[in-house]
Amino acid sequence: MPGTGDGTDRRHRVIVIGWGFGGLTATKALKRAPVDITMIAPTQHHLFRPLLYQVATGILSEGEIAPAIRRILRNRRNAEMPLGDVVKISLAGRYVVSEPLGHRYQTAYDSLVVAAGAGQSYFGNDHFAQFAPGMTTIHDALEVRERILGGPEQAERSSDPARREKLLTFTIVGAGPTGVGLAGQVAELATQTLKGEFRHIGSTHARMIVLDAAPAVLPPMGANLGQKAQARLQKMGVEILLHATVVDVDRDGLTVKDPGAPSAAWNPPARYGLPRCPQSPLGDQIPEQAGTELHRGGRVKVLPDLTVPGHPNVFAIGDMAAVPGVPGMAQGAIHDAKYAALAIRAELKGAGPGMREPFHYFDKGSMATVSRLSAVAKIGPLEFGGCVAWVAWLALQVVYLVGFKSKMTTLISWIATLLTKNQGQLTITERQALAQRPVQPPTQPDAAVNAA
Ligand SMILES: Cc1cc2nc3c(=O)[nH]c(=O)nc-3n(C[C@H](O)[C@H](O)[C@H](O)COP(=O)(O)OP(=O)(O)OC[C@H]3O[C@@H](n4cnc5c(N)ncnc54)[C@H](O)[C@@H]3O)c2cc1C
Repeated sequence: MPGTGDGTDRRHRVIVIGWGFGGLTATKALKRAPVDITMIAPTQHHLFRPLLYQVATGILSEGEIAPAIRRILRNRRNAEMPLGDVVKISLAGRYVVSEPLGHRYQTAYDSLVVAAGAGQSYFGNDHFAQFAPGMTTIHDALEVRERILGGPEQAERSSDPARREKLLTFTIVGAGPTGVGLAGQVAELATQTLKGEFRHIGSTHARMIVLDAAPAVLPPMGANLGQKAQARLQKMGVEILLHATVVDVDRDGLTVKDPGAPSAAWNPPARYGLPRCPQSPLGDQIPEQAGTELHRGGRVKVLPDLTVPGHPNVFAIGDMAAVPGVPGMAQGAIHDAKYAALAIRAELKGAGPGMREPFHYFDKGSMATVSRLSAVAKIGPLEFGGCVAWVAWLALQVVYLVGFKSKMTTLISWIATLLTKNQGQLTITERQALAQRPVQPPTQPDAAVNAA
């Protein structure tokens, strides 16, 4: 078999790191290929990240967007899926080392597809993480849900106006698709769903703030759609602060540098979420060994055939790869993965790396949801917003969700939420509801405390 490299008649071994959009698509695209695939990732599910904030705001349950990978791939007899964090890649030795629960395993490969995605970046301010959860894992989404729902629960018990204000102020850092979608959902949750459910606080007590260092909302979608999204959020009562760089975050709030008034520090009360940025910890290892530099966004630089320079059998794809013209989006990862799988198949048939056509990306457009029945979409030269865009966005999510059951249950949850204006997944645990929030203790004892 070409490509095994050791003269034996064993099958070609492919390791796929990560089972997000890139990893899963690559494995599926190698269906019935004469290869043995080992997919390694630290979780047992495939996470549909674009719907994480729907979990955070109680519209969907985590199970709906994270089907078990073994269930998805149970009929792919050429693939196995050991759990583990890949901690080392040896390009020269052609093996990876993974660590499940303190054990170390070394696995050899003939072809490697690295699709480890992007981590949360705090732009060199890792201490922010202590106070500001990101939005890349199920854990993050449940943590944000806990903060969104735990705040009003505590505010209900407090008679201190300043403390109430803190507990009911939601600050979202980042006015990209995730920040905008989250802000819209939080605003709806605060102003519609929770209306009338509390006895001492009302929807008018809630304050939503979105801030971003960029000069516009949704910059990748252009000025027209950005303004549409901004106007919609403002109509829902969301305050939007642009040109606002977060320079510090602590228990009590965040400090923002406003270029309009450079000496001003602004400390709103806070609940947080910070934007995602490509920065995979595994990404560092590849440039080090390949003798290349990391792309300035923290991504791995690849050649036009998506391989690491000097290693035509190692593909870096998806969010962790810097491919000119390819956005850090699900469709980018899916395109990359299909190309890598085709290249591996071609090599098995004797078409070596020198015969590969360069990767070409076809942009199908992008969409961002703003609130219930409102989204913005850009498809080629066509730009539109509102309800039509929202229906298109919804249809796209359902098409890309993995598994019939996930598609059906997600659709039913959405329809139920639309009809009843009630999120169905508002559970947080007792520990979460009563946890110490990252806000200052009351300035004066609450009436309830006095009574006790
Ligand atoms: C909140 C949010 C909203 C988004 N909304 C949209 C949207 O609306 N539309 C859109 O197109 N895109 C959206 N995206 C982006 C999209 O989710 C990503 O572009 C896409 O997931 C990238 O796919 P990937 O395979 O490269 O990485 P991922 O899907 O992130 O998968 C990475 C995989 O690698 C695994 N992994 C990580 N480190 C290791 C390691 N050391 N060892 C082994 N495995 C590892 C992870 O567990 C995971 O399985 C959004 C992302 C987020 C976070």
